[in-house]
Amino acid sequence: MDKAATTFEAVTFIGAGVMGLPMVRNLRKAGVEVRVFDVKPQTRAALEAEGIATVSSLAEAGATGGVVVTMLPDTPDVRAVVAGTDGLAHRLPAGSLVIDMSTIAPAAEREMAALAAERDIAMVDAPVSGGVVGAINGTLSIMAGGTAEAFARARPVLACMGTSILHAGESGAGQVFKMCNQLMVASHIQAMCEAFALARSHGADLELLREALRGGAAGSWMLDNLGPKVLARDDTAGFRIDLQLKDLRLANDAAFEKGVPLPGLALATTLYLEARAHGEGGNGNQALFRTFDRLSNQA
Ligand code: NAD
Repeated sequence: MDKAATTFEAVTFIGAGVMGLPMVRNLRKAGVEVRVFDVKPQTRAALEAEGIATVSSLAEAGATGGVVVTMLPDTPDVRAVVAGTDGLAHRLPAGSLVIDMSTIAPAAEREMAALAAERDIAMVDAPVSGGVVGAINGTLSIMAGGTAEAFARARPVLACMGTSILHAGESGAGQVFKMCNQLMVASHIQAMCEAFALARSHGADLELLREALRGGAAGSWMLDNLGPKVLARDDTAGFRIDLQLKDLRLANDAAFEKGVPLPGLALATTLYLEARAHGEGGNGNQALFRTFDRLSNQA
């Protein structure tokens, strides 16, 4: 899509954290008029210092119609913002569109979309993959759920933040895709850390190993993007282990609901719980390398 030729609706953006802030910057770069609400006053002050307009309450965020994007941590946060007393579903004028880009439960998206529809407010779930790098570069992969009409309206806004934008299906379908993504992310990190642990035990050069693996069938986004961090023993977040566990919980709930046995998911969940039990919840998800240090007595 030719971004330069598109006329955008103004956007109210809620949740300017690790992902939200670079997404806001990309919306502005594309020429979208953006105003932001974040619950943290210090975040709002930093945004204002950067010349980004803010509003200081959820009620204010919902007072003006148009497009509202949410990028919040977990299901209860999105529920509070969309369906709570001051929530968007009760405040926004009819004809508005809410795009939830957080990773949350598909069933919650469906409930909130139904609530919003009662007041003629459309809702699209549009979770993302690609990490902070993708958010900064505007190259996120976006998986959307909602009606075809709502998706068509959301698409030009999403195109300012991502490069792969797919309509996964009805409301909640974007979140189902994202769960599958997260299940694979966790397994890929686990596989990478395991390979490094084995190679280290045999005295191999890990930088060389990573280079060799990148070119073959074991190559992956994980090896390219988080491999260097693991080798540098850099545990900065990025995507926090607490958020990774939230996503694994969502996938486990969904698997349990349908009775689908997913042994890889169960193993990844156990390993991440081990990491969190050792105080790693606030570290980047690549800090799983320390779980393998502990398992192989290399800590
Ligand atoms: P974050 O914690 O850095 O950001 C969340 C922001 O929302 C914070 O600034 C917080 O102050 C704000 N917030 C919380 N509750 C609020 C409320 N009620 N009203 C207004 N603002 C509120 O989290 P993040 O890493 O940016 O992740 C956001 C979502 O994106 C999560 O669902 C996460 O799973 C998903 N995600 C994250 C990454 C990543 O690499 N970090 C990648 C893909 C998807």
